[in-house]
Amino acid sequence: MSHDPLARRTAPLDLGADEFRALGHDLVDWIADTLGGVGERPLTPGEPRSVVRRALGARPLPQRGRAAGEVLTEARELLAAHSLWNGHPRFWGYVIGSPSPLGMLGDLLAAAVNPNCGGWSLSPMAAEMEAQAVGWIGELLGFAPATDGILVSGGNMANMVCFLAARTARAPWDVRTHGLGAADAKRLRVYTSAETHTWLDKSVDLFGLGEECIRRIPCDDRARLRPDLLAAAIDADRAAGDEPWMVVASAGTVSTGAVDPLRAIAALCAERGVWLHVDGAYGGFAAMLPAELLDARGDDVAADLHAIALADSVAVDPHKWLYVPFEAGCALIREPGLLRRAFSHVPPYYNFAGDGEDEPLNFYERGPQNSRGFRALKVWLALQAAGRDGYTQMIGDDVRLARVLFDAIAQHAEFEAVTQGLSITTFRYVPPAWRADTAAHLDDLNALNRELCTRIQDGGDLFVSNAVSAERYLLRACFTNFRTTRADVEGAPETIARTGRAIAREMFGL
Ligand SMILES: *Cc1c(COP(=O)(O)O)cnc(C)c1O
Repeated sequence: MSHDPLARRTAPLDLGADEFRALGHDLVDWIADTLGGVGERPLTPGEPRSVVRRALGARPLPQRGRAAGEVLTEARELLAAHSLWNGHPRFWGYVIGSPSPLGMLGDLLAAAVNPNCGGWSLSPMAAEMEAQAVGWIGELLGFAPATDGILVSGGNMANMVCFLAARTARAPWDVRTHGLGAADAKRLRVYTSAETHTWLDKSVDLFGLGEECIRRIPCDDRARLRPDLLAAAIDADRAAGDEPWMVVASAGTVSTGAVDPLRAIAALCAERGVWLHVDGAYGGFAAMLPAELLDARGDDVAADLHAIALADSVAVDPHKWLYVPFEAGCALIREPGLLRRAFSHVPPYYNFAGDGEDEPLNFYERGPQNSRGFRALKVWLALQAAGRDGYTQMIGDDVRLARVLFDAIAQHAEFEAVTQGLSITTFRYVPPAWRADTAAHLDDLNALNRELCTRIQDGGDLFVSNAVSAERYLLRACFTNFRTTRADVEGAPETIARTGRAIAREMFGL
């Protein structure tokens, strides 16, 4: 009797229920212990690439596989020893949310169900949860009811989805059929400030508009786009026969957390028939905070954040200030149906038309992806578990801590505190000998602070990134981290100053 290997397969990747249970429990225990002590270990080993490469080893592709438990243990040991842990309470670099443990479990559950959230019939409950989570995000932003939206991989993709929806909606010819070189095409112009994130540069390049289509509008002394100059630029381009189709405003610039004057910009866009897109990837969620907190220091940002409600589209980033693990971005579009108008292609080999009861909710028709994972689950869980109140508290505390840092820096004799906006504080180290005339030492201060940024980042005690403002190289702390406490923040200036002193001595003999 021949044994038929296809009758009962022994797939090398399958795990029996008992083995899966044992490996899973063990891994969850390890994660709980590791996260529990994350603040007591170095934030990063700060190793050069050669060291990390050596630790991994030049492994040939294995011909024969190994036991799952063995490779899992090896992977977690490699990651534990050679990773930067952005869940550390003193991680304040770039804009990276401290990952919520619930989100980790959500990703595990999502992978277990493994719905393909491109087609509704392949992901019935998952697709509904995504639509619900997107609706809640719209509500949090005051953009309610979010009439059209989708989760994507992050802020860049969310902004790009809005960009493409706007292009289809506002180009005065059929750009999807005839492209940008159509006989009746006009030159499309987009308006923004120099502070806007590079997603826009990538977009005009990737989607064929070319970088010259961007009009960079100068900012005021608080790094906010100037509406008077915006209006003049739109009118001049229109008079010249170009097509001003989109303004990109920021609700929280990535460098300093500046909020563009959205009320004035929205009024202007409405008046001139130009699409208003708000990039809220960093700061959009601050719109849920009470005005008393936002404007406590005379900032006057609350009313402009609330004017997000007037935008045609908004991009936000749940993997930043909603603290979900990577990846999750969200695009919201005011006018229903526009995402499908921009993205829908229905192939003959799909049977996703629905049962006629409701309009089918097929996300593959609403964005660039075809097969799509269930990133919505971690977002849905987080919004349910924290609620509006929980987020108001966590995001509010991040803003408060940024102000605590600004004040501590301002009181320290060896620092210059430069900006404080939303949860971002910028500053630089200034040796006492140069304090009286910092302008005369601009280049040396920049070199010193650049080196300081690198050493702090590699040191493993805390992590800040950098910004450049008025030619000054600055250190920049951005709080999107619910694990940070006041003690973490208050200890930071002296930690940074110690390294600053050492560099001043080594590089400049001070
Ligand atoms: C982070 C950020 C982006 C890009 O988002 P990713 O999630 O990194 O793709 C875009 N705009 C602003 C203002 C940001 O802060």
